[in-house]
Amino acid sequence: TIGMIAINSKGDISVGTSTNGAAHKIPGRVGDSPIIGSGGYVDNDVGAACGTGDGDILMKFLPSYQAVESMRNGMSPSKACENALERIIKKYPKFMGAIIAMDKDGNHGAACHGIDVFNYSYRSNKENRVQINSVKCI
Ligand code: ASP
Repeated sequence: TIGMIAINSKGDISVGTSTNGAAHKIPGRVGDSPIIGSGGYVDNDVGAACGTGDGDILMKFLPSYQAVESMRNGMSPSKACENALERIIKKYPKFMGAIIAMDKDGNHGAACHGIDVFNYSYRSNKENRVQINSVKCI
């Protein structure tokens, strides 16, 4: 999955996902990516989140919605991603995937599970270059 979060100068936030789906998927499988709240979720008042990984598990938890709601309640983007993943791992300890999130002020973070490290890229209006953040998985 390619997941993207963007915020413009007016404070409008967008999230988008594009996925090649799962290996050996059954015909007609939809997966998590196009499901609002699962593959991605955004609220201009709070921020946005999107996910990647085992979509058949992700879509049972609406983790993007969960991460945005946690940011609404005061969690940092990183903590909100961790919290959303922890809810999944509790039920599916072998889950593999990641969540990224950004709040309306442009603070961003991610969390991952089932791999060692997850890298995501970001670019802000403060520096005219793309940077990579490397997150150690929980
Ligand atoms: N989440 C995607 C899916 O299950 C796969 C991926 O993240 O690469 O359709």
